[in-house]
Amino acid sequence: MKICDELSCTGCLACADTCKMQAISVKKNRQGFSYPVINDSVCVRCGKCVSVCPVNVQKKNKAAAVPFACWDKDDKERKSATSGGFFTCLAKKFVEDGGVAYGAAYDSSMKVVHKRITSLNEVTQMRGSKYVQSDTSQIYKKVKADLSIGKKVLFSGTPCQVAALKNYLGKDYENLLLVDIMCHGVPSPLIYDDYRKWLENKQKSKIRKLDFRYKKPGWTVFSMKADFENGKSYVSSKYEDPYHCFFSLGGRSDVKAVLL
Ligand SMILES: Cc1cc2nc3c(=O)[nH]c(=O)nc-3n(C[C@H](O)[C@H](O)[C@H](O)COP(=O)(O)OP(=O)(O)OC[C@H]3O[C@@H](n4cnc5c(N)ncnc54)[C@H](O)[C@@H]3O)c2cc1C
Repeated sequence: MKICDELSCTGCLACADTCKMQAISVKKNRQGFSYPVINDSVCVRCGKCVSVCPVNVQKKNKAAAVPFACWDKDDKERKSATSGGFFTCLAKKFVEDGGVAYGAAYDSSMKVVHKRITSLNEVTQMRGSKYVQSDTSQIYKKVKADLSIGKKVLFSGTPCQVAALKNYLGKDYENLLLVDIMCHGVPSPLIYDDYRKWLENKQKSKIRKLDFRYKKPGWTVFSMKADFENGKSYVSSKYEDPYHCFFSLGGRSDVKAVLL
């Protein structure tokens, strides 16, 4: 049984969460992206993994979209965020009201994973764009559990992750707010791991903090900033930093030639 074509797979992992038989394990493909693998001896061919996949099924919004533009009026908060800092405002409101927020954060080894938070002091973990595919293992189950006990839930992710969650839930919830970030694609965790190793070898120290969108040099001319355990920092503009060059040029047809 095949869920979707490997090249189209977004690595959302809703298929693994939906499988009652736990027949799906998550592997890394050759490029380092998450990819589901079915254990045929356990699979009962119910087809749920195929129908939850946002590559196969895309739900249309019932109402026409109404656009708003917002930014955080608190200068300090906005400057720490990637863009206008609206996510932080929303997440604060949800947790202040006793709800929960889901979004992308670093784990203790600097990998990017989707997390569930319930308190104000955790909100900053999710702030800031992390330009890499986040690990969403088990996250859809947690969202559903929160919704079913009536918690107010804010879920933020890439449009693919949000579409996956909609399919996974299968119905609308009044206590759920979905926020998809503007996204032109996520780089591979393998390249992200190699990049961190490269930085750590250069500085001979472990990274303690990473900011993909350091705005001090300017909002549009942003930079990559890494802070190391030895107290040193690395700052390089999006035009010079190798990771940013690949990420920004990712949509161009000539980039494949550079990667090969
Ligand atoms: C992979 C990626 C591609 C992007 N591509 C574009 C683009 O093409 N054009 C554009 O204008 N903007 C792009 N962005 C920027 C993104 O739209 C901004 O993060 C968004 O505008 C949020 O701004 P904010 O100030 O409200 O968020 P902040 O307060 O900075 O919070 C960041 C938000 O992004 C989420 N997030 C961070 N990293 C990830 C991740 N790896 N996966 C899923 N969610 C994540 C967090 O959960 C949080 O909700 C991209 C971001 C990412 C992570």
